[in-house]
Amino acid sequence: MHVLIIGAGLGGLSLAQSLQKQGVSFEIFERDADENARFQGWAIALHSIIDKLSSSFPSDMPDLRASTNHLAPLKLPAQIAMYLPGRKDRLGFQDSPQMPIIRAERRRLRDWLATNIPVQWGRRVTRIEHDNDGVSVYFKDGSSAKGDILVGADGIKSVVREHILHRPSTDLLKVVPLATIVGQLTLSGEAFKRQLSLGHSGYMCIRPDLGFVSFVGLHYVLPDGLSGRYYWNFMQTDPDVSNPDHWLQKASQQEKLDYTLKSITKMPPKLREIFEMTPVDEIKPESYVWCDLELESLPAGRVLLVGDAAHAMTPFRGEGGYHTLIDTLILSKILGELDTGGKFKDVAAVQQAVAGYNDEMLRRGGQAVRDSRNLHANAARVGPDGKPLVVEMMSLPDVEIVLGAEA
Ligand SMILES: Cc1cc2nc3c(=O)[nH]c(=O)nc-3n(C[C@H](O)[C@H](O)[C@H](O)COP(=O)(O)OP(=O)(O)OC[C@H]3O[C@@H](n4cnc5c(N)ncnc54)[C@H](O)[C@@H]3O)c2cc1C
Repeated sequence: MHVLIIGAGLGGLSLAQSLQKQGVSFEIFERDADENARFQGWAIALHSIIDKLSSSFPSDMPDLRASTNHLAPLKLPAQIAMYLPGRKDRLGFQDSPQMPIIRAERRRLRDWLATNIPVQWGRRVTRIEHDNDGVSVYFKDGSSAKGDILVGADGIKSVVREHILHRPSTDLLKVVPLATIVGQLTLSGEAFKRQLSLGHSGYMCIRPDLGFVSFVGLHYVLPDGLSGRYYWNFMQTDPDVSNPDHWLQKASQQEKLDYTLKSITKMPPKLREIFEMTPVDEIKPESYVWCDLELESLPAGRVLLVGDAAHAMTPFRGEGGYHTLIDTLILSKILGELDTGGKFKDVAAVQQAVAGYNDEMLRRGGQAVRDSRNLHANAARVGPDGKPLVVEMMSLPDVEIVLGAEA
């Protein structure tokens, strides 16, 4: 069996690793010219599937935690805190032996996932043909490839999805009524320590009483351990956000910063500090309109989807990448079984296996899309087996923060 994977993001690369481990033949195609062509995002929390990823991937992969931890070289455990109205204590989630959490810097995670994977860069898919016997894919550069199965891991604006559903992304993606302003900055010394003590990896302020939700996240610690690169998202429910005349579409960086600062005046000083320290030229000039995607069904055949191509969601609950990885862990086992004994040649066997995968993936992904859209911070999370995860918020301990590479 030969599998064609479209897209070398989290989903495509994770699937490639699991197929590599099982000795299933594959090729992986990516539209970007090289691995540095695009900003990969800030940081992502991995939990519940850490052991499963390691056991599903080849054993010569470097250690996941050491390769991707955004807090390195600091020794602090990953920790996300929640600041809620009327609560004085620091609640949240923390890496522990009982509940391991890795907060991975996105570029490091992508590089780790790409270990020993021969990504074919600069191969943008423009057209797909498939029938009962196989799949052909055509690229913008005029080249093509053939396989038995094609997996679209090509993200929210998937061309593979367009091919199987005959509907453009503009028909399927739903605007999320959430206006967002994004800032970034580098902090050092005492200011860096104060942010780490609010939440080592980041913290969320959920303030319906003040009309906003914000997330402050550590992107990564600089190699000397003395400074950290931060980002923040300031979000407000706003049904008008995609209107071309919405003020954020044309607002200057200064206007966005001023608006954010005005909106947070009733917050305690320690929670305002990072916004107040942000230089105006570090406010993202582009406007953010989040879209999500919930599909009721997908045809079962030789072309299928993983990740954002099937269930894109807002980053509010930090679940999009998590469910993408779960998709690939489940799908790789199904593909491994089809490969064994040549069952992949029988289109009925392929359809049956893919139908089972689609049902579970769309149900699990759809729930996460809805919980993310509705800003449900406390909704249950599900594990790779589809069962609810026990991830209760704890009261976070205060520890002394020491900076430096040897700290
Ligand atoms: C700001 C932000 C923060 C986030 N934070 C978190 C978080 O904390 N936790 C979490 O779990 N999730 C998070 N997510 C969600 C997560 O990033 C996505 O769910 C995840 O990246 C989806 O992986 P994917 O492989 O499906 O798609 P992508 O990562 O989008 O990868 C798709 C790949 O396909 C390629 N491609 C596209 N079209 C073609 C084509 N025609 N031909 C060839 N290649 C193509 C693209 O270049 C890309 O490399 C966040 C998302 C955003 C936007």
